Amino acid sequence: MDSNTASSSLPQNATPLRTRLRKSLKEIEEQCTDCGACMRHCAFLKQHGSLLTLVRQLELSTPEQVQISFGCSLCGLCTTVCPQKLDPCGLFLDLRRHRAAMAPLELTPYKALLFYERLGASKLFSLFHLPPGCTTIFFPGCALPGTRPAVTHRLFAHLQSQNKNLGLVLTCCTKPSHDLGRSDVFQNNFQAIKKRLLTHHITTVLTACPNCTAIFRQYAPELSTENIFSLLAEFVPAPIDNPHKHQEVVVHDPCPLRGDRQSQEAARTIVSQLGYTIRPMAHQQNKTLCCGEGGAVGCVQPQLATSWTQKRIAQAQGRTIITTCGGCSAMFARFTAVLHLADLLFGKYVGNSPQPKISKPPMTYLNRLLLKLRYSWRVWWHKKAGEN
Ligand code: SF4
Ligand code: SF4
Repeated sequence: MDSNTASSSLPQNATPLRTRLRKSLKEIEEQCTDCGACMRHCAFLKQHGSLLTLVRQLELSTPEQVQISFGCSLCGLCTTVCPQKLDPCGLFLDLRRHRAAMAPLELTPYKALLFYERLGASKLFSLFHLPPGCTTIFFPGCALPGTRPAVTHRLFAHLQSQNKNLGLVLTCCTKPSHDLGRSDVFQNNFQAIKKRLLTHHITTVLTACPNCTAIFRQYAPELSTENIFSLLAEFVPAPIDNPHKHQEVVVHDPCPLRGDRQSQEAARTIVSQLGYTIRPMAHQQNKTLCCGEGGAVGCVQPQLATSWTQKRIAQAQGRTIITTCGGCSAMFARFTAVLHLADLLFGKYVGNSPQPKISKPPMTYLNRLLLKLRYSWRVWWHKKAGEN
């Protein structure tokens, strides 16, 4: 992976937050040449003149000023393109953490998102199916099981056909809290997941969601984390009956994995093998753009978030967008034709509809619950077999 990418926006070092912030601000003040490369494609920075202007005016002790950071999508493009190797994305994430530490955040705009997270991480929705001999788990995240439970089930069965001891963990990695700067909530939840996996001698996590992938790679370095689409390129399942192949499509790379060349190439390999013709996008791979979902900006500045979505859709020039992220797919689906790569491999088409059936809330909650129940008996069975 590239070193100067979005993953650097998820700092893991032990330096106290305030020290880290002062260092980042000083670095930008001293080394930024105001070249504008970070701002060129960033709707958020454009609102504030330039990064250097913003940093010079920033008063760390004023909550209203620090609050500005909640308009940043945390997409990492600025960090990737900066010729000075500065990390504006990391700065904005730290500013969010700083804001959360200063005074309670106004969480009303994030109510639905945090409910989604809380429920996803709850005992009611979580499942740890770790059969005897299991050292690898599939961690599908929240979006895929919610919007596409049958696809998730078929995908797990396919992965299991390659590894009969494969485990399954259904829970939320709590990235929403991570991105809102609620470090305590995030660390408590994520460290508990990690501890449980390490206690069961799990060594490898197969992720379907780009956000979960980035979180595991950053905060669980003891585990090897692999995005499943990299694996699937090596054993593409028999293509489903897809009446829409041969059309021209574009591939949207999710920004949490902008530095993961392997998963980007794998997605393109699969799409090509399925018979589609891929047209390049103006911004792709490590220069990809946010779909508008990043950083939960849509909860507080919906127009700003939508401007990212529209920009990306314009770049698709009317072609269907294919992506490996459930969140990106939901953002684009509000305005244009989009397919999740898992739909292409494991979905079922209804008639001539270009879009496989995907669920919307509140069905997404019910789907996750039903999927959990579907696998709960396996946990029960293995427990019983162990007792006898
Ligand atoms: S992380 Fe993305 S949204 Fe935030 S400043 Fe950088 S380019 Fe702009
Ligand atoms: S790309 Fe880097 S050097 Fe150029 S304005 Fe942005 S932070 Fe400054």
